[in-house]
Amino acid sequence: MRRILWFRRDLRSEDNPILSLEGEVLPIFIFDTDILASLRCNDRRVTFIYSAIMNLKASLRELGLDLAIFYGKPKEVFGWLLSQSAFDTVCASGDYDEYARERDRGISHLLPFIDLHDTYIFRSDEVLKNDGTPYQVFTPYYNRAKALFHQEHLKEYHRNEALERIPFDYDVLHRIQGTSHTTAPIRLESIGFAPQVLSARQLRTPKEKLECFAAKIENYPLERDYMVLEATSGLSMDLRFGTLSIRALLRWIVAQQKEGKQTEPFFRQLIFRDFYAMLLYHFPYLSQKNFRYPFKGIPDQDAFNAFCTASTGVPIIDAGVRELLESGEMHNRVRMICASFFTKNLLLPWQWGEAFFAEHLNDYDAASNILSWQWSAGTGIDPQPYFRIFNPYTQTAKFDRECRYIKHHLPELAAVPAKLLHTEDAFQNCLLSNYPRPIVNHKSSSQRALDYFKSVLQQ
Ligand code: FAD
Repeated sequence: MRRILWFRRDLRSEDNPILSLEGEVLPIFIFDTDILASLRCNDRRVTFIYSAIMNLKASLRELGLDLAIFYGKPKEVFGWLLSQSAFDTVCASGDYDEYARERDRGISHLLPFIDLHDTYIFRSDEVLKNDGTPYQVFTPYYNRAKALFHQEHLKEYHRNEALERIPFDYDVLHRIQGTSHTTAPIRLESIGFAPQVLSARQLRTPKEKLECFAAKIENYPLERDYMVLEATSGLSMDLRFGTLSIRALLRWIVAQQKEGKQTEPFFRQLIFRDFYAMLLYHFPYLSQKNFRYPFKGIPDQDAFNAFCTASTGVPIIDAGVRELLESGEMHNRVRMICASFFTKNLLLPWQWGEAFFAEHLNDYDAASNILSWQWSAGTGIDPQPYFRIFNPYTQTAKFDRECRYIKHHLPELAAVPAKLLHTEDAFQNCLLSNYPRPIVNHKSSSQRALDYFKSVLQQ
């Protein structure tokens, strides 16, 4: 049996089901030009992926295998590979967003496609209602998921000794365009991207992040919403690109639990991730269309530009967007406050905000991002009620009391007393020469949103 092992969202050799197969194998990674074409050449995620695949290549070599690296459209890469040699199957871990499913369908017409389960805890059809339909509300999904959770979800996969490396030129980058094939050195610059400096937190290995988080998991439910505490795991990028196995993370959680630690609130967030992936799988139209209410928002280019350039004059919003632009990160609580402000106070279409986050978030994941935006906009499945609107100032007073987060990202506000940033009135009346006045007033913009939502519902 000659197999192509296609690594995509599982960029690791440890605990990877793809390596538990047997036969002669050609492990590959494809820098997909269909995806890369829309990215800026300084995209941090490409640096992260590049570094992950170089680590993967090194660890596969230690196992007597290797990784062939391609640059091109997946269909053309497979066409070229099949013109060079005969293969029986391609094996890859399932990838569920619309683009990925369409891409995989195309490849399956060229070669039998074996879809392995890896990225999520549950398969997309594993946690369903009694009538076989997907859950649309999180809590019952969560309860069912917990009831179905068993040892198999903790299984650790090992390299099959019967795997044999297919001879190939593994030392160069293979560039495929149409049917033409050229080679280049394996470097980021060869695919048109400039190496980026990643933050200290981004550079930590999953093992280091877990060691650090072990001391914090007990306080996770109490502290996770406070922006400056770094109380969360910081693992979203590792889960996104598979540099950490979800099953290894679950085994780690079980070990923490055996030490008597409270782990359920953290586990619940992982189930949220599964829930969103399951929803996008069953309802792919959600990537663009509302699930429930026909709220479209009101396009306003000036308000959108102010949001995207961190110049709304609302400190917690501008601090969050500045963090996003400068590091590709944004704390979960700030994502929620920003998305509420965007879709309610500014009444902008959630799709615009989703696309802006997609462009900048290091951990961008279609399912989590789309469903979170729909949740914030009150349009999705199991949504935040449309009439609930976060007040960015009271959120600041609650979760960034001393305004350390705001002042870190907006140093121009360093000298402003924290209390002034907790209330809108005080801040609107205080004219700062180096910071814009708020583009909206919370009370009146909330009322405008409520009026808009009601008028849409009455139509
Ligand atoms: P932790 O709190 O340590 O959580 C552990 C893991 O659980 C995370 O790494 C993540 O995989 C998962 N998780 C946690 N919270 C959520 C959640 N609310 N929904 C789904 N999964 C969750 N997360 C992404 O991974 N990619 C996105 O593109 C993304 N976009 C978002 C957009 C908006 C508007 C909002 C409100 C949330 C979004 N999230 C997204 C969810 C969440 O903000 C991040 O997963 C979290 O901030 C990552 O930090 P962490 O790894 O320290 O999380």
